[in-house]
Amino acid sequence: MKNETGSLVRPDALPESASRPVVTPLSASVVYASETPDMLDQQYQGDLHGYTYAREGHPNADVVGRRIDRMEASPNPGVVTSSGMAAVSAVLLGVTQTGDHVIGGNQLYGRSLRMMTEDLPRLGITTSMVDPGDIAAMRAAIRPETRMILIEAVSNPTLQVADVAGLSALAKEAGLLLVVDNTFTTPRAFRPFEWGADVVIHSLTKLLAGHSDVMLGYVAARDRALNDRLRVFTVTAGMNPSPFDCWLAERGMLSFDLRFDRAQSTAARLADHLASLKGVKRVIYPGRADHPDHVRADALLSGQFCNMVSFELDGDRAVANAFTRAADGLSFAPTLGDVGTTLSHPASSSHRALTAEKRTALGMSEGFFRVSVGLEDPGTLCTVFEQAVTTATGN
Ligand SMILES: *Cc1c(COP(=O)(O)O)cnc(C)c1O
Repeated sequence: MKNETGSLVRPDALPESASRPVVTPLSASVVYASETPDMLDQQYQGDLHGYTYAREGHPNADVVGRRIDRMEASPNPGVVTSSGMAAVSAVLLGVTQTGDHVIGGNQLYGRSLRMMTEDLPRLGITTSMVDPGDIAAMRAAIRPETRMILIEAVSNPTLQVADVAGLSALAKEAGLLLVVDNTFTTPRAFRPFEWGADVVIHSLTKLLAGHSDVMLGYVAARDRALNDRLRVFTVTAGMNPSPFDCWLAERGMLSFDLRFDRAQSTAARLADHLASLKGVKRVIYPGRADHPDHVRADALLSGQFCNMVSFELDGDRAVANAFTRAADGLSFAPTLGDVGTTLSHPASSSHRALTAEKRTALGMSEGFFRVSVGLEDPGTLCTVFEQAVTTATGN
């Protein structure tokens, strides 16, 4: 019996339209109604495509996922997760088992490092953190029970470039999974699957969504069975994304290419400008000839050196304080990839747990800042930095 009188709670159907919306509709529905038990059976069987329950997938997540699949040239449809860390966790927890060993880059994102050093060992999974630019050290770290190597192509915040070609060959030779977190470099600069990676991870929270108003992640695997396993684990563990976040992320991603190109060209200009200032001791930008890994970056990133610039002010914490105060038009905030330029200061945030000596050894003194370059007018941005450097260092 049809609900013609509207006496039942839910409407039968949406209003009909011969035309379709240009903007992806927001599908807030958690549940999807099937016509018959037979059809539901076929859906669960995979013979008929249809949504059932939003933890298992929904249209807004699929729209975002397929977009990233295309950008990454992913061999399989990736999974959109509730955050970048959910994607990292899905790989580390959904693929390993007690007794396994995992190797990580020694400058991974802080929470990934924490998962590697605190949570995996608690579950009986041992870990080693190794320089991803040092293939001999990586080789030496491999044990019979090693399952995977997790790296980022460009490290945070000192912007070292991993030897991805060497790692890919090593992983193949030793039968390990090579997992690449591509958040920093993005598929516009680097496509890990084309370099032999087995799994690609993203935090969409950063450059891909780009507006600091949504947290999401993505993970895809080259191997079909592994990709399925990651999907099932994220569903079971409840790492599902909200439709509204996916809707926002899609909107942000529509302008990703333009944002990336603009931020990148401004970053190159800012890096050169900072290097010309007297109060700046050194500048780290993979596009500069004086970057230690410049040649590798050029090959790996096909001449795209991204939007992150690090530099060291000539001075102590007081100078660093004076700098962020003087640069008050810029956000001093622990993120990256926003439309606005953001500053981060590792000594007081991501690397505060280390001793001053250890930080200095890693090249992160009190004067060290990381800049995520945004979409400001390049000339204006250079002027703001120059004035803040001059005010803070007195030259
Ligand atoms: C931010 C970030 C993550 C974590 O992503 P969230 O969306 O914040 O959970 C993982 N890896 C890298 C490289 C990141 O920058």
